[in-house]
Amino acid sequence: MNEATLTRPADAPDAVDKKAEKQAYENNKLHKRLCRLVGQAIGDFNMIEDGDKVMVCLSGGKDSYALLDILMTLRERAPIKFDIVAVNLDQKQPNFPADVLPAYLDKLGIPYHIENQDTYSIVKRLIPEGKTTCSLCSRLRRGILYRVADELGCTKIALGHHRDDILETFFLNMFFGAKIKGMPAKLVSDDGKHVVIRPLAYVKEADTERYAEVKQFPIIPCDLCGSQENLQRKQIKAMLRDWEKKYPGRVENIFSSLSTVVPSHLMDRDMFGFQDLKADGVANPAGDIAFDEEPCSTPATGTIPLQPL
Ligand code: SF4
Repeated sequence: MNEATLTRPADAPDAVDKKAEKQAYENNKLHKRLCRLVGQAIGDFNMIEDGDKVMVCLSGGKDSYALLDILMTLRERAPIKFDIVAVNLDQKQPNFPADVLPAYLDKLGIPYHIENQDTYSIVKRLIPEGKTTCSLCSRLRRGILYRVADELGCTKIALGHHRDDILETFFLNMFFGAKIKGMPAKLVSDDGKHVVIRPLAYVKEADTERYAEVKQFPIIPCDLCGSQENLQRKQIKAMLRDWEKKYPGRVENIFSSLSTVVPSHLMDRDMFGFQDLKADGVANPAGDIAFDEEPCSTPATGTIPLQPL
């Protein structure tokens, strides 16, 4: 044993205490941050109102567990009254551990419903081997969840998609669908009867990952159906993670830009009346915004801002 080991043992009791204390502090900070961001998203989009019955879709993945957990915390503190019912759709995928969610929900003591529907066999029967199954599978799932929401008298359907899902969808739509379109934080369901909400819209995936570890949620693997995760989504995810590492703040700015759209500076003629646009001789008090903050690239100096005229 060398001198350093004798004088500074790696796991001396006070060092262990300090580490545990720091960890508890970080965990508490994470919980507060999640509550704040979820509360903010709910407020910004008026997601939940007094008297709502919110159906929380629980897949057994980290995000839906985090959603349920945070909504339960917020419900205790909210100035309004709303009910929560957790719903899991057991799609009869091979090796799905059907007892895990009921055991977890029983412990929580909240109302829940497990809907048993063998969509797995339908998908297997209709989609040829090797083809992507997710689109049919999620369409079937959506229809079932709407019906269940009706039967349970739920007024809102809460899904566990987070900020990174929204950004990935945004880039997927742009790169492969030639559309500026993300994943809405709130929308009316396809059947026109329900409002679908995404209270984790402002939450980073890294935070739900960490929260799932802290809370030791009994995660059910998401690859039971044998489908490969969408390759294009995987690539976009890797691109965003790379940007986040190399250019801190970039991903945050892209996400903020989704809330700050300037239709007059895009090219969608349905969103802005370019056809009827005329000079009316009235000065804009905000000044000439046409050229503001446009970057000017020169090969010698890189990007320099334009000086105001
Ligand atoms: S990964 Fe499997 S369960 Fe999930 S949507 Fe695709 S086919 Fe369905």
